[in-house]
Amino acid sequence: MEYTTLNNGIKMPMVGFGVFQIPDPAVCQEVVETAIKTGYRLIDTAEAYGNEEAVGKAIKAAGVPREELFITTKAFIQHINYEGVKEAFAESLRKLDLDYLDLYLLHQPIGDTFGAWRALEELYKEGKVRAIGVSNFKDDQIANLSLFNEITPAVNQIELHVFHQKEKSVAYQTSKGVQVESWGAFAEGQFDVFNNPVLTAIAQKHGKTTAQVMLRWQLQRGIVSLSKSANPERVRQNVDIFDFELSVDDMAAIKGLNTDTTVFNDHHDPKTVELLAGYVGKSF
Ligand code: NAP
Repeated sequence: MEYTTLNNGIKMPMVGFGVFQIPDPAVCQEVVETAIKTGYRLIDTAEAYGNEEAVGKAIKAAGVPREELFITTKAFIQHINYEGVKEAFAESLRKLDLDYLDLYLLHQPIGDTFGAWRALEELYKEGKVRAIGVSNFKDDQIANLSLFNEITPAVNQIELHVFHQKEKSVAYQTSKGVQVESWGAFAEGQFDVFNNPVLTAIAQKHGKTTAQVMLRWQLQRGIVSLSKSANPERVRQNVDIFDFELSVDDMAAIKGLNTDTTVFNDHHDPKTVELLAGYVGKSF
């Protein structure tokens, strides 16, 4: 495993395993245990994924010392306010059966993000979480939150894949000490990405899969990547990316796939805010 150093000096694995859309507790527990035994050290869950208990059981069953693991979870919109974060954090720790977290994130830039951030700062100062960050924040929101609070987020977890490469955002956030972490590293398989001809040619040249090429591309850009698979063979494949290197030409060819457009939801579109707020019963 390779590591990056966050803005508060702690180490974070460069490749992580995400558990979004693995609702079955038995399946989730099994794949997370496989992932840890295979070499993943970063596990990414969220209260909204409904599987923190399964993740906690897998952590215990895998038998790897707690201090070697990097466990992330996130507060969802209904808890993005001062009191809500305190409650959600305690509940996540209880479900995960842990006594501290490595990274706690505000899942969306929606709700009372400033109140929520002050609660995160307190949890951090109390030693209950080793690093605090955000998810789906745009550059202006990172600047606003950082300039008017004490602590700059250590991490921003955002949609980032070969179709939406976000060069300007990565440069801006990195320059402010915010580590970019990607979600949807495979664009969730959209546009037949695993059979993309550019990626297939590069994969064949290196004797790797297109999935491995996509994750290696993120690593070489200095981005922490998350991927999800419920298939044990693909779980193993997705962490086996440290024994080859993409050339300058490979990186340039992948750059050509960029469409600079989200393939999910634009968090600056009010319709996205309305959609996400609707999940927690808020509407005009
Ligand atoms: P993803 O990793 O881009 O794609 C997952 C899809 O790719 C699944 O259908 C999986 O199928 C397939 N797959 C995985 N490895 C493969 C391989 N080697 N070959 C072929 N197919 C493969 O999507 P994601 O789960 O949305 O994103 C990853 C993680 O990011 C999540 O689990 C979550 O932790 C995080 N995330 C965060 C946010 C946020 O708002 N912060 C949003 C979305 C996701 P199989 O399972 O069948 O292998």
